[in-house]
Amino acid sequence: MDNPNVELEMARFVEDGEGMELIHVPQCVACAYNTGLNGCEIFGSKPEAYLTNTEDCPVRQEEGEDV
Ligand code: SF4
Repeated sequence: MDNPNVELEMARFVEDGEGMELIHVPQCVACAYNTGLNGCEIFGSKPEAYLTNTEDCPVRQEEGEDV
């Protein structure tokens, strides 16, 4: 027996982005020294306090800004 609501039911499992709220953006995003998920030109791997924004990174450089 076919379910006429199958499309509607499957739509519950597809995220379309509407209603999503971004709650955490690491300060490493858009930093000129950011080399990947946990990579940093200055520290090698990003210190957790900077990655989680619990402390301001003292050497953060906005990408595209002159040093
Ligand atoms: S310099 Fe600081 S802000 Fe930039 S990527 Fe490294 S830890 Fe993150």
